[in-house]
Amino acid sequence: MGKKVVVDKKWCKGCGICVAFCPKKVLGLVDGKIEIERPEDCIKCGQCELRCPDYAIYLEEGTENE
Ligand code: SF4
Ligand code: SF4
Repeated sequence: MGKKVVVDKKWCKGCGICVAFCPKKVLGLVDGKIEIERPEDCIKCGQCELRCPDYAIYLEEGTENE
């Protein structure tokens, strides 16, 4: 089991909301798109998924982020 956080960059408009709400500072903006900069720190809380207005970031069932 386990989930990993995934970004669909074609939907990301770079608003930075997910960066602001991530309690573990996993996410960062690079050239106006989200990068999962510290996947090892992700606690799978779902805040990014919840707050993204464009459904561009979400937790996906599957292998853990490395
Ligand atoms: S699930 Fe939580 S800890 Fe992981 S990237 Fe999203 S907001 Fe950050
Ligand atoms: S909240 Fe969504 S649209 Fe905004 S920067 Fe994050 S992933 Fe991109």
